[in-house]
Amino acid sequence: MTSPIFAFFDPTYILVIVGLLLSMAASGYVNSTYAKYDRYRAQSGVTGTTAAEYILQQSGINNVSVHPIAGNLTDNYNGGNKTLNLSESTANSSSVAAVGVAAHECGHAVQDATNYAPMRLRTAIVPIANFGSSISFPLILVGVLMGMNQTLIHIGIFLFSFALLFQLVTLPVEFNASHRALRILSDGGLLTADEVPMVRRVLTAAALTYVAAALATFLQLLRLIILFGGNRDDN
Ligand SMILES: [Zn+2]
Repeated sequence: MTSPIFAFFDPTYILVIVGLLLSMAASGYVNSTYAKYDRYRAQSGVTGTTAAEYILQQSGINNVSVHPIAGNLTDNYNGGNKTLNLSESTANSSSVAAVGVAAHECGHAVQDATNYAPMRLRTAIVPIANFGSSISFPLILVGVLMGMNQTLIHIGIFLFSFALLFQLVTLPVEFNASHRALRILSDGGLLTADEVPMVRRVLTAAALTYVAAALATFLQLLRLIILFGGNRDDN
C-alpha cells in the first residue's frame, strides 16, 4: 500500500542509521586509541618517517618513497605511484602510535611488492565498486519511478553489492598489513617487547573502522533487499 516515494522514508532506514552510528563509534575509538598511544615515545627514538624508510630498506623495497601529507590519520600507501604517504602527525612523531601506523603502511608496500593476492583483487574491484556505488541508487530510483520496474531495481541492487564486495576484500588486506607491521617492528628492534602490545591496540582500532564500514555497507544492501528484493508487485 506504500507509495513508491514513501518507500525511501520507511522504517528500514534504521539500518542506515545503525551503520552510520557503527562507523562513528569506530572512528571515535581509533582517534582516542591513537591519541592515547601517541603519548608514549618509542624507546628507539625513530619517527614515523625514519621507521618507514628503515622498514622499506630492510624489506628490500627501493622503489617506494616516503612523503608527508596534510591531515590527521590520512596515512596511506599508493601503489599507483609507489608513494608511502604519512600524515604530519605520524611523519614527525616518535610515538609508538606513529611508528605503528607508519609500519602498517609499509605492510601495504610489502603486499604490493610481493603481489599479495587480496591486494591485487582489491585493486581490480575498485573501478567496478566505484561505478556500482555511483549508479546503483539512481538506477533504483528510476526503477521505482517507472512503477517498480523490477529489472532496473535488481540491476541497481546487484551493482551496489560490488561496494560490499570491495569492503570485504579490504578486510584481509588491512589485517594482513597490520600483522606484517607488528612482526617487522618486533623482529627489527624498532619497538621493545612492551611497546608491541600498544601498537597492536592502535592497529586493531584502525582495522575496526574497516569492519564498521563493511557492516554499514552490508546494512544498506540488506535494506535495499528488504525494500525491493522480492518480486512483489504491491504498488
Ligand atoms: Zn591500511
